[in-house]
Amino acid sequence: MNRNGYGGIDRFRLIAALLVVAVHTLPLVSLSPLADFILTHVLARVAVPFFFMATGFFLLPDMLPALNHKNNAGTGTNSIKGHKIFCEGKRVDYKALKTYFKKTASIYLLAVLMYLPLNIYTGRLAEMLKPSSLIRELAFGGTFYHLWYLPAGMLGVLTVCILLSRFNWKGVFFITGLLYAAALLGDSYYGLTLKFDGLKNFYDLLFICFDYTRNGLLMAPVFIALGGGAALSGRKYPVTAYAAGLSVSATLLLTEGLFLKQLGWQRHDSMYIMLLPCLFFLFRLLLNIGGKASKALRNTALIIYLVHPLCIVLVRGLGKVLDLTSLLVDNSMIHYAAVVVTSVLCALSLLPFINGRKDDKNAGKGRAWAEIRMENLRNNVEQFRSILPQGCRIMAVVKANAYGHGDVEMAAGLNKLDVNAFAVATVEEGARLRRKGITGEILILGYTFPEEFSLLKSYSLTQTVIDSDYAAMLNSYGGKIRVHVKIDTGMHRLGVNSKDIDGLLSIYNCKNLAINGTFTHLSSCDSLLQEDVDFTLRQIEQFYKTLYKLKQVGINPGRVHLQSSYGVLNYPYLKCDYARVGIALYGVLSDKNHVTRVSPCLSPVLSIKARVVLTKKIEEGDKVGYGREYTAGGKMTIAVVAIGYGDGIPRNLSAGKGHVLIRGEKARIIGRICMDQMMVDVSNIPRVVQGDIATVIGGDGRESISAESVAACSGTLTNELLSRLGQRIVRMVTGDPIFKENRVFTPELKKFYETARFSIKSPHFFSMLHK
Ligand SMILES: *Cc1c(COP(=O)(O)O)cnc(C)c1O
Repeated sequence: MNRNGYGGIDRFRLIAALLVVAVHTLPLVSLSPLADFILTHVLARVAVPFFFMATGFFLLPDMLPALNHKNNAGTGTNSIKGHKIFCEGKRVDYKALKTYFKKTASIYLLAVLMYLPLNIYTGRLAEMLKPSSLIRELAFGGTFYHLWYLPAGMLGVLTVCILLSRFNWKGVFFITGLLYAAALLGDSYYGLTLKFDGLKNFYDLLFICFDYTRNGLLMAPVFIALGGGAALSGRKYPVTAYAAGLSVSATLLLTEGLFLKQLGWQRHDSMYIMLLPCLFFLFRLLLNIGGKASKALRNTALIIYLVHPLCIVLVRGLGKVLDLTSLLVDNSMIHYAAVVVTSVLCALSLLPFINGRKDDKNAGKGRAWAEIRMENLRNNVEQFRSILPQGCRIMAVVKANAYGHGDVEMAAGLNKLDVNAFAVATVEEGARLRRKGITGEILILGYTFPEEFSLLKSYSLTQTVIDSDYAAMLNSYGGKIRVHVKIDTGMHRLGVNSKDIDGLLSIYNCKNLAINGTFTHLSSCDSLLQEDVDFTLRQIEQFYKTLYKLKQVGINPGRVHLQSSYGVLNYPYLKCDYARVGIALYGVLSDKNHVTRVSPCLSPVLSIKARVVLTKKIEEGDKVGYGREYTAGGKMTIAVVAIGYGDGIPRNLSAGKGHVLIRGEKARIIGRICMDQMMVDVSNIPRVVQGDIATVIGGDGRESISAESVAACSGTLTNELLSRLGQRIVRMVTGDPIFKENRVFTPELKKFYETARFSIKSPHFFSMLHK
């Protein structure tokens, strides 16, 4: 899962690791036993549950869409049975699980080996190697006092996965909650257990299997599930609400700890009831902090966690050898500081080996990549805002991976620009955006199968109602579903016929539909040919007439929208609540020959680059590429560029029609474009070498190639060209969407748009209809 935007979590990992060190060194003990109890036996106990939550938060969403399907398999009506296979196919994404297990297991193995000498020295090894205790040690104990955390994480994740494949979320929280209750009764609530003989006997049995109930079966699952829950819930409250929740629950946690200590119930003190609300609020507070993710911080925290017991031994040993025990060990604060410093030093010296290759700024530019310029996105948003009438907001269309630009990056940038409405094609696209923390309304323009209705709810997505039967289907799902109603005004794709008022009324009367909007789609608004304009005006008129009729019978259509990019560029005056802007938001038009009534200064957001991987000289008559289609007319130098149709570059850009830019000069594409490579003529470009950058779309020096011209050369629209850009193309985002300087939009330009709006044959009667 992409971790960016979750910097708060990474920063707290470090604090949590230092809290764990405190638990094992008791820094306040020479100050006051009570202060020590409060810090290390109560408050610091948030650390390990926090780590479990972070695991759940990052791991579970990667496996979840499938889990959601599974929960609903078989609950649908007969009419959808045929689609079952379609859903079963997507079940659990075991890959994410496998990666997590592989990584954690190898860290565990390494840690066990690291502590082996100490276990030999203390004589614990012989004890552990007894057949009766080996499994117990490896599965629960961890072989050294802090290592239980690693098998507990794996066991916990496994438990939650199994539960999720059988129960819905409520069920999972309930069961993991019960497990936690069982854990509490063997931990700080053990005094209660002792009061009941049957219970005590049961725990006696349990403690044959493990020494403590803080393990992967009883303790970890609830926190891992809570983490997954935090990732999935779209709901957000103000920071102050979380801060208040945290301070109240931390106070209650303290009270609980002190009370249990007073009662003398604690067999161990790693778990409290109040840890649950405490972590719930703490985690959400940290999510609100946001910020850049830091792998270095994550690894530092992990290393500190793993090595600090070794550092404790080291500090004590050093104290003995240097005769400084009274200073280094006896004063608990100094002891703690010494252990922290040693652990941090350890982490810092190990970090370069763990992080592997340093991320240099050319990472990702090894072969073919797309450069995504956020400041251009900002410009385009501003341009559109200036054109749109007051009250009409942008609904950014980010379907098909945001037309190849990377939907998460685009939507996150747009969120920063205060764009809070998005349109996607499928429920899966919408769920993905939510999982990555995108806020605001997300409208699914396409059809969603009933098996996936649960995703609509769990990710608070808005579904398009495509006809009245579908409305009935959504209505009978159970619970409110947010929808926009689509009206067909002549495109004859999705939507209820605009003349079918009865059909529409049946939709608006559905009790379980929260109808927040009504829209239509214009099929020919990109053309200014008279007949197309006439048709479009008829569509517009029909739409507003239908809305008018609905309003007459007291129906509120919610937010109204009908324009796509060209709808805005050619009919900017329309009075509505949203404009569904797609292609133009990315700074390109569909076709380079299109003329529009208003033409804002749009800047292309994306450019495509690839590397020259080889140059060679060929002789007159030599053939190039598949089918020997190109014949050299004389001595020439060609370059092989590492990008092809497998990356989405249209194959029919070959045949002498297309070119790329190398060293600021045009290089013609020769021969047929291959799946992964293409050949270009660099005879007239001096000094082209391996590693040079070839620009396929974008500027280089004074030359530039627009997406429109590439699309034209390959006989298609930019929409198709961009949305087909492949997965292999690394998207590299630069710039900041909220960078304020260098505003392209000048007052003069604004004036131009305002007057432009009136120069258009204005059918104000439409706007009167829609009051
Ligand atoms: C794709 C789509 C849009 C966006 O169209 P652009 O021409 O890219 O702006 C708007 N509305 C609907 C229904 C769409 O399918």
